[in-house]
Amino acid sequence: MKLQGTMRINDKGHLEIGGCDTVELARRFGTPLYVLDEEHFRQNCRSYYRAFVEKYDGVVIYAGKTLLTLAICHIVAEEGLSLDVVSGGELYTARKARFPMERVYFHGNNKSVTELKMALDFKVGRIMVDNPYELEMLNRLAGEAGVCANIIMRLTPGVEAHTHEYIKTGQIDSKFGMVIANGQAMEAIKKALNMEHIRVRGLHCHIGSQIFELQSYAHAAEVMMGFAAGVRRETGWAPEEMNLGGGLGIYYAEGDEPRPVEAYAETVMQSIREQAQKHGLPVPRVMVEPGRSISGPAGTTLYTVGAVKEIPGIRKYVAVDGGMADNPRPAMYQSRYEALVANRAAEEPQETVSIAGKCCESGDMLIWDINLPAVNPGDILAVSATGAYNYSMSMNYNRLPRPAMVLVRDGEADVIVARETYEDLIRNDVVPERLVKRKVVQLAGAGY
Ligand SMILES: *Cc1c(COP(=O)(O)O)cnc(C)c1O
Repeated sequence: MKLQGTMRINDKGHLEIGGCDTVELARRFGTPLYVLDEEHFRQNCRSYYRAFVEKYDGVVIYAGKTLLTLAICHIVAEEGLSLDVVSGGELYTARKARFPMERVYFHGNNKSVTELKMALDFKVGRIMVDNPYELEMLNRLAGEAGVCANIIMRLTPGVEAHTHEYIKTGQIDSKFGMVIANGQAMEAIKKALNMEHIRVRGLHCHIGSQIFELQSYAHAAEVMMGFAAGVRRETGWAPEEMNLGGGLGIYYAEGDEPRPVEAYAETVMQSIREQAQKHGLPVPRVMVEPGRSISGPAGTTLYTVGAVKEIPGIRKYVAVDGGMADNPRPAMYQSRYEALVANRAAEEPQETVSIAGKCCESGDMLIWDINLPAVNPGDILAVSATGAYNYSMSMNYNRLPRPAMVLVRDGEADVIVARETYEDLIRNDVVPERLVKRKVVQLAGAGY
């Protein structure tokens, strides 16, 4: 496992994060446990802030869907970033954390009336309008509220980025955004520019996630600026803001080669400037929406090893006390992860094993074929790069309580999400009165 952020191996041979011994953390807070390296998270925010805000007066919008809690909102606000929310629930979280609402960007391909009203009521900075239906609805709701909604139009540029390559036409078939190629985007923007309660501030696209190929961003910028030139020719309007979404790739496992944020910023800015000049457009304020590349590498999950089962000549399964319920990514996307035995972190690998979760699904495997020192029940396994899309995608399958999350820094560990209890699991369960009565009869009949 690659040691990232403040990770190191201490003189006991234990993995340490944020100056905290992870074996101690496991003992004190239980497992599974999400551990968030505060310094690393902040450093990631700062790389973006320096590369885009300080250098180019851009805007960096943290994608809350990757990891959002009240404490995270505080850190993101403190680091000077804006916040991208995609639901009433994320918006509510930001509000409760007193995140500055003018720095909130509201995304989503099917926002409800209630969510849009909430966004207008909270006076969020921008609403990212995804489709013509939403545009009409928002114009009406803003009118009823007597306000003007600042919007950014989400477009589908026809650039689809993959991990190692990108295709230029694939992404037209997407549930997100308005298609440029077939004229839908142009039609919607003309409508929007004439709406009384809508002010169009800019354009948006998001071309994918876990991207290592920076050229795909340059290409997206080219398509978006080309479209902007077309809009200006037809309407006289030019975007003040150009939002190129998120997606920068991170290191999960061997073979992943993340690009530095600075290189990303240079590629994007150079392309935007060239295109502005080519089309005689004003250079828009550039916005990016990184999620994974801020929260992902800062998170580690600790598990306790339980049953170890060897099928001779085939495979050795090492089962841990979590799995797809706290990290659905391997089951959903065949995502790869690295791990180490936290209580024997300095030991050389001895055998190849596969890490199984504890859910009742054969697909609940966290890592296939990883080289580890001999693993025994009671060992603490640390899986790295779990900060993004883990807690935020976690679930209660098999009625497993969600793990706690601790924020570690300089030897201190603070719980920022409490471990769910069994009582939490049944909190919203309701037994109708008629079943209660019936149960009494049945129980009596069964001889209790
Ligand atoms: C998911 C998403 C992001 C963040 O993507 P990452 O890969 O986590 O950086 C940004 N913008 C939009 C619109 C998204 O859907």
